[in-house]
Amino acid sequence: MIRNFCIIAHIDHGKSTLSDRMLEITGTVEKRKMKEQLLDSMDLEREKGITIKLTPVRMHYKDVELNLIDTPGHVDFTYEVSRSLAAVEGAVLLVDATQGVQAQTIANLYLAMEQNLTIVPVLNKIDLPAADVPRRRAELVKLLGCREEDILLVSGKTGEGVAKLLDEVIARIPPPASQTAGGLRALIFDSKYDDYKGVVAYVRVVDGAVRPHERLRMSASGVTFEVMEAGALTPAYAPNASLAAGEIGYVATGLKSIEGCRVGDTIVREHGSAPALPGYKVVKPMVYAGVFPHEGHTYEELREAMLKLSLSDAALAYEPEYSPALGHGYRCGFLGMLHMEIVQERLRRECQLEVIMTVPSVSYRVFSMKGEVIDVHGPLEMPDQSHIMKTEEPWVRVDVVTPAEFIGGVMALCTDKRGVYKTTEYLDATRALIHYEMPLASIVIDFYDTLKSITSGYASLNYDWLEYREAEIARVDILVAEEPVEALAFLVFEKDAYRIGKSVVEKVSVRRGRDA
Ligand code: GDP
Ligand code: MG
Repeated sequence: MIRNFCIIAHIDHGKSTLSDRMLEITGTVEKRKMKEQLLDSMDLEREKGITIKLTPVRMHYKDVELNLIDTPGHVDFTYEVSRSLAAVEGAVLLVDATQGVQAQTIANLYLAMEQNLTIVPVLNKIDLPAADVPRRRAELVKLLGCREEDILLVSGKTGEGVAKLLDEVIARIPPPASQTAGGLRALIFDSKYDDYKGVVAYVRVVDGAVRPHERLRMSASGVTFEVMEAGALTPAYAPNASLAAGEIGYVATGLKSIEGCRVGDTIVREHGSAPALPGYKVVKPMVYAGVFPHEGHTYEELREAMLKLSLSDAALAYEPEYSPALGHGYRCGFLGMLHMEIVQERLRRECQLEVIMTVPSVSYRVFSMKGEVIDVHGPLEMPDQSHIMKTEEPWVRVDVVTPAEFIGGVMALCTDKRGVYKTTEYLDATRALIHYEMPLASIVIDFYDTLKSITSGYASLNYDWLEYREAEIARVDILVAEEPVEALAFLVFEKDAYRIGKSVVEKVSVRRGRDA
C-alpha cells in the first residue's frame, strides 16, 4: 500500500517541524539523530526557517509506504509547489491555531484543489496558550465547507496528535491510481546537483517503472541519459532495483547540467512514445537586478560562483552586463524578492563572495517604432524614448489577509501603489481577505515591509501573475556633477519619477556627506 501526500501551509505555520515528528514516529530517523528540521537541507533554510528545496522522504508506517513532500510556503515558488502537488493524491492543510488562515494558506489550498487533491485539514501548535481552537476551527469550516470533526488537532512540537494524523492520512487519502504496464512516465517535481551522481531528479512515477542502466529521455528538453541509480530518499539515498508506478523517489542521471532537467518535465523511455504529463511550463524570472563583484573580488570569481549556484538552482537566470561604474557583472533574473535574497546569501556563504546588487527591476515589454518587441530587464537596456512606441509592465493579483481594523490602512497603501481594488471577503467577523490588482513593480520595493508595519505585523500577502498592461515608464538618470551615473539609473512609473528620483538623490547625498 502506498500513500503520497504533501503538507501545505503559510510560512512558519509548522510544516518542517511536523515533518520531523513524522520521521520520528515512523522510525525513519532515530530520535537521537534528529536535528531540527531535517528536510530543510540548506543551512540557510534552517536558519531562516523557510523551505526552499523540496525534499521528498519515504516512511513506513503500519505496513504502508508513505511518501511525503515538504513544499516551500513562499509565493516565489508557486510553480514548484504546483508540480509537487501534481505528484501526490492528498495534502495536509496545516494552519497555525494561534494565527489562523493566512494569504498563502488560501493560495496553496486553491493550488491543491486544482489538482483534485484530498485535503486533510489540521490545526497545529495546540500546545500554545494562544491557540484558539474553536475560532480557527470555525474559520476552516467556512473556508473548506468541511465538518468540524474532520479537522485534526496536533502539536508538531510535542508530537501530540501526530500518530492519529498519520492514521487519517492513510484512511482519507486514496492510493495512487498509477499503471504498472505500458510506457514509462515520471513527473519531475524538483532536482538537485550531486558531485557524484550528477543531476538527481526527484520524481513521481506515474506509469511503468525506472530501473538502473536504462536509457531514458526528458520529454520537453529532449536530453537523454542512462539511469545511474534510482530509489527512495529516507531522507538519505536508498537505491533500489526499481522505482515503480505510484512511487516517489529519485533518479540519478549522471548529467552535468541541471538545465536539461526541468521541474514539470516528464521522464520517458529514450525511444518511447508516451505523451508528456500535463502542466509543464518554463517559469520566467519576475525580478531582475545587476550583480557585480564588490571591491576586493574579481569578475572571474563572480563568474565561477554563478556557475556553481546555477548547478543547483535552475530558476536562476543570468547574462553578462557591463556598467561603466561597476565594471563587468551579470544581469540576473529571480523568481521574486526572496529568491533574490537567497542568491545573495548563497554567494556570500557558499562562495565567500561579496557582491553589489543594483535596485531590482521588473521585466518591461517595449514595442519599438520598428515593430520589434524587446524584453527590458534594467535601465541600461531601455531604448531611447524616441524609438519606443509603447511600453507594458507586468501586473499581479494581490491577496492580503488582515485584521478588520487595518482594512482602511491596507487599502490606502494599495491605492497609493497604483492598486486597483477588486473585492473583500471575510474569513470571520474580525479578519478580511482583500483582493487587488497591482503592478508588480509596486510590490518589489518596500511593499511587504510597509504592509507589515501598518498592520502591526498581522497582515499576510500573496500574489500571482496576471498580465502585461500598458504603462508610461521613464528611465531616471541621476547626475552627479552633471555626469550621469549609470549605476544609479532606474526605471519607474513616469508619475513617480520625480518623487523617487528625489529620494535617491537625498540618500546618495547623505551617504556622500557621511563619507566626507
Ligand atoms: P514552516 O515554515 O511551516 O516549515 O514552519 P517551521 O516548522 O519552521 O516552524 C516555524 C516555527 O514554529 C518554529 O520556530 C517552530 O519551532 C515553531 N513550531 C512549529 N510547530 C510548533 C508547535 O506545534 N508548537 C509550538 N509551540 N511551536 C511550533
Ligand atoms: Mg519549513
